[in-house]
Amino acid sequence: MSIDRNSYLHELGIVNWVRRTTEAPQAGARTEAAPDAQAKPRVTAGSAEAAARAAAISEMDWSPLTDAVRDCTACGLRATCTQTVFGVGDRNADWMVIGEAPGADEDRQGEPFVGRAGQLLNSMLGAVGLQREQVYIANILKCRPPKNRDPKPDEAECCRPFLARQIALVKPRLILAVGRIAAQNLLNTDVTIGKLRGQLHHLGEIPVVVTYHPAYLLRSPKEKRKAWDDLKLALRTLRASQQQADSQPRQDTTTDTA
Ligand code: SF4
Repeated sequence: MSIDRNSYLHELGIVNWVRRTTEAPQAGARTEAAPDAQAKPRVTAGSAEAAARAAAISEMDWSPLTDAVRDCTACGLRATCTQTVFGVGDRNADWMVIGEAPGADEDRQGEPFVGRAGQLLNSMLGAVGLQREQVYIANILKCRPPKNRDPKPDEAECCRPFLARQIALVKPRLILAVGRIAAQNLLNTDVTIGKLRGQLHHLGEIPVVVTYHPAYLLRSPKEKRKAWDDLKLALRTLRASQQQADSQPRQDTTTDTA
């Protein structure tokens, strides 16, 4: 094990495990919901307009997709955020990390997972031998909800086509769903994160591993060991799929329709 990886594991609390006192939530961390009355979607979920919009987004390449997110006003969140937060990283990555929504730091900088939570995510990735630049990172929502409240279902629905297209373009071999909101939205379930983590899920054919949000781990450091278990599950899953792919001749999926 390299010295760097040891330091990442140490950051995760895996090496020289020491119980720490609970830290105060960081600025920008996900916190309890705060009511805001004005955030109403402009595009109604389930409407013909929403279907047409989703279909158009599903055809976009990176450049028009980036522009569409930047210019989006489909839900009320764009009115209260500083800027949209599209996503960052390797667009051909094996790993895709999906979080909830921009917090204060992300809203300010226009990049997902920055600040202390972002640093801890970088350490989590480092523990499995990955640099931040080697994965693709995005959120369920591209705009920060006021006061970091939880995304509303209609907001998540409104923003879903963007993330779906990002996933389709990246074609990750594994998705790491980070935090309850990300996991529940991706997997379309209301099962608790405690029950979702520790087992393998799928989004279509893409394996999904659920783990805790780094902002939560900063507040609850004793859970870092579980996050490390989740990362090891992700690593095992990816290695197993690689071995399976290596052992099978590549299939020609071309269909003769004549
Ligand atoms: Fe558009 Fe998503 Fe921002 Fe809502 S959260 S305005 S759907 S980009």
